[in-house]
Amino acid sequence: MNFDFTDEEKNFFSEVTKAMEAVAENRDFESGDLDTVRDNLAEALAALASSGYLKLGLNAEDAPFSGTLPLMAAMEQLSGISPSLFLAVEMSTRMFGRVVALDQEAGKNADILSALAAGKTVGAVALSEESLNVENDPLTTMATREGDAVRVSGTKSLVTNGPVADWFAVVGMLDEKVAVFLIEKGAPGLKLTDRQLTMGYDGLAISGLEIDGCKVLADQVLGPFDAAPFLEQLKLWENQVLIASSLGLMQASYITARDYAKEHRSGGKPIIAYQEVGFKLSEMLTLYQTAQLYAYRAAWMADDSPKEAGVLTLCAKVFCTESAEIVAGKSLQVQSKDGYLAGGKAERSYRCAKYGQIAGVSTEIARVKIGDAALGRF
Ligand SMILES: Cc1cc2nc3c(=O)[nH]c(=O)nc-3n(C[C@H](O)[C@H](O)[C@H](O)COP(=O)(O)OP(=O)(O)OC[C@H]3O[C@@H](n4cnc5c(N)ncnc54)[C@H](O)[C@@H]3O)c2cc1C
Repeated sequence: MNFDFTDEEKNFFSEVTKAMEAVAENRDFESGDLDTVRDNLAEALAALASSGYLKLGLNAEDAPFSGTLPLMAAMEQLSGISPSLFLAVEMSTRMFGRVVALDQEAGKNADILSALAAGKTVGAVALSEESLNVENDPLTTMATREGDAVRVSGTKSLVTNGPVADWFAVVGMLDEKVAVFLIEKGAPGLKLTDRQLTMGYDGLAISGLEIDGCKVLADQVLGPFDAAPFLEQLKLWENQVLIASSLGLMQASYITARDYAKEHRSGGKPIIAYQEVGFKLSEMLTLYQTAQLYAYRAAWMADDSPKEAGVLTLCAKVFCTESAEIVAGKSLQVQSKDGYLAGGKAERSYRCAKYGQIAGVSTEIARVKIGDAALGRF
């Protein structure tokens, strides 16, 4: 295990951070109507494209580097700058992009991948369905063959980037296996439902999808794949994104509390002088750094021993996403009334942290799977 980053990688992380901080100075990535969210995303994607960030994890030959470990660290930097922007970028690049890249060897959809890498297109992954968790039940989105093409029908309840996406990777059933249907916005039969607002990630555009007999050409059908390994792969990628998201939330919560404790005075001295405040900061830093190590180990395993990476990633996800909520809570406590007032970074992290625990493989299902793996092994 070697979690050291090369100088080239470190320079890359700081270049991405600097470029994105510069963009964030003039834009509020944490709120806005759909036009604002679309403009924000377009500007951020253009900046990220010039650094090569959007090529990471997509098997691109000219990516700045390969490997899940440096990808995890790069994602952590972006999440620390803006949670909403981070999820929008990652659902498009690392989720939608990796799904499209599944058929890269066949040369399919190379144009979509190059537009993604250039920051010129936005993707979304439509997997979950209303009242149905893919961990428990088979998908109800169905495709039937029609010559070389297929016709797809189904309903997807929550799709991140839905209202701003150019392309949708719709996951459904074909020939009793799971397949992905790439559907372009505006395709006949594709309807977006109203934007959904959530308790966190206010700068994210989320909607549902109604798909009524959409025609998808053979080139834009990926698979069909065996359901279990395909869904496991998708969930692994999503869990990696959610782990990185949690690291960024912890980074923001910790730094905000530390700086506040040094500056804010109460009783004639900076509050960092109170031992109990120092204890909170030390607990936050300990959790953040432990979570970071766990995340890096799971990322390293994903390349080094993929068979074991699945369970380790679940463990890391449970730990990192639960730690993010605890660290954000302690940050609020240190900042007291100023933390509780709306608009601060810790308040946002607190509201966003919960999402990591319910999405991907939820904390409950992850614990069941970790337990099953432990029983199987010992
Ligand atoms: C902001 C947001 C954005 C989203 N974006 C997307 C997106 O881009 N694409 C997409 O496809 N989906 C997206 N989703 C959907 C999201 O992935 C699902 O909400 C998530 O998978 C949870 O499904 P559910 O709400 O149906 O939970 P349910 O399955 O109804 O679970 C409810 C509770 O029961 C527990 N539970 C369920 N089954 C078990 C079990 N077998 N063992 C133990 N406990 C269990 C769960 O852990 C949870 O606590 C998004 C959701 C939100 C909130």
